[in-house]
Amino acid sequence: MNVCNPADGSLIREIAEDSAAAVAAKYARARASHPAWAATPLAERLEKLALFRDAVQRQRERLARTLTQETGKPIRQARAELESFDGRLKFFLENTEGVLAAETVLEETDLKEQITHEPLGVIANISAWNYPWFVGGNVIVPALAAGNAVLYKPSEFATLTGLAIGELLHGAGVPADVFQVVVGAGATGTALIQQPVDGVFFTGSYATGAKIAAVCAPRMVKLQLELGGKDPVYVCEDADVATAAESLADGAMYNAGQSCCAVERLYVHEKIYDAFVEHFLKTVRGWKTGDPSADDTYYGPLARAPQLGVLEAQIADAIAKGGVLLTGGKRIAQPGNWFEPTVVANANHRMSLMREESFGPVIGIEKVKNDDEALALMNDTEYGLTAGVYTPNEARAKLILARVNSGSVYWNCCDRVSPRLPWSGIGHSGVGVTLSTYGILAFTRPKAWHLRR
Ligand code: NAD
Repeated sequence: MNVCNPADGSLIREIAEDSAAAVAAKYARARASHPAWAATPLAERLEKLALFRDAVQRQRERLARTLTQETGKPIRQARAELESFDGRLKFFLENTEGVLAAETVLEETDLKEQITHEPLGVIANISAWNYPWFVGGNVIVPALAAGNAVLYKPSEFATLTGLAIGELLHGAGVPADVFQVVVGAGATGTALIQQPVDGVFFTGSYATGAKIAAVCAPRMVKLQLELGGKDPVYVCEDADVATAAESLADGAMYNAGQSCCAVERLYVHEKIYDAFVEHFLKTVRGWKTGDPSADDTYYGPLARAPQLGVLEAQIADAIAKGGVLLTGGKRIAQPGNWFEPTVVANANHRMSLMREESFGPVIGIEKVKNDDEALALMNDTEYGLTAGVYTPNEARAKLILARVNSGSVYWNCCDRVSPRLPWSGIGHSGVGVTLSTYGILAFTRPKAWHLRR
């Protein structure tokens, strides 16, 4: 397998993919190692994860550079990911013990009822490349803490980061067989879910998630799918136009729009539409495109070449259906996977731009007359990951957000994930939860104890 730099197409490294036989052997080792890990006291497992946390932070700059090199993520954004990863680890380290403690739910003279939280066993984690520390960590850290063995297949577009995670965990004392990195692309992922694992945790696109769900359904194993989004935001007429435009431009364009919770659709009240579009455009044009390893770069290349064609098709379709291209709209002609930051005004729901995940530096803006129209459009989607409203009026925002079908809702903010809050989607955005206390329990099964003296 070739690991290439998306900024110029150059080869970084050749790596051998795991064959189906190699995946089966890794599974067998994980299964054999699991009982001892599950029997290791929780405090000891957490100690090792704390050492992992320290090692990641000590090597933050090197790890950020690896991430930039293999995914094209601008270096400042790569550093920011590693910094926030630390906050997630802190949350898990501080909360796992309390969440996993046995609960006594009835205590009578002759009868006691208790709940314990048991590890699932050996789990498979098939992951995405866009935030490999975040999406990998959301699974790997609580799963290991809860006493599971983990077979982790990083995306083929973030393999070096995946291997680095493995080395650092092993260096921190997590046994080599308890956490193993499975190297490869889709075929390797397929081989992994053929193994009799006790849980499958997937982060990626709806299309791949649907295939994995079909394979796992008859097996009755725990399945979590964290999938894509088509995340809408409504800007009300009383919003501060400049503040909203700057915040939302960042929400749409950060990491070249390659975030599951990137702002993908904008609905702007007709009274402020023109002013908003002007500020938004100015902000988008103000950021620098260029070498992702440079400190002042905001837009890097896309991680995957095929996405360039998806974006071109969305823009062509939008223009054919009445969209007004305000900036960008095409590839940047140079080696690597480059696409101009693109803003399409006069968007509508007949366009794939407003219906299918773009996952690129592209946004459609639609004018709306009132809250009801905005709400109807926000809910006109198969996805349901995040949604937001910008207005100084808290009551108005909450009224709208309560009726939006999505796992997370934002008032005057966007593209935000907190370790303290559950991360989940509705519809094609997936099933299951990571982060928060729910995202610790997700890696356990409850065992009911009926104890009669
Ligand atoms: P993808 O679906 O192309 O690939 C995801 C993973 O699945 C990769 O590791 C890939 O090798 C593997 N894979 C591909 N085909 C497979 C198969 N048939 N069987 C088993 N494994 C297979 O997605 P991607 O391009 O890596 O990630 C982008 C997508 O992920 C976007 O849709 C984005 O919104 C979503 N995402 C969601 C979240 C979330 O928390 N909801 C977070 C990050 C990314």
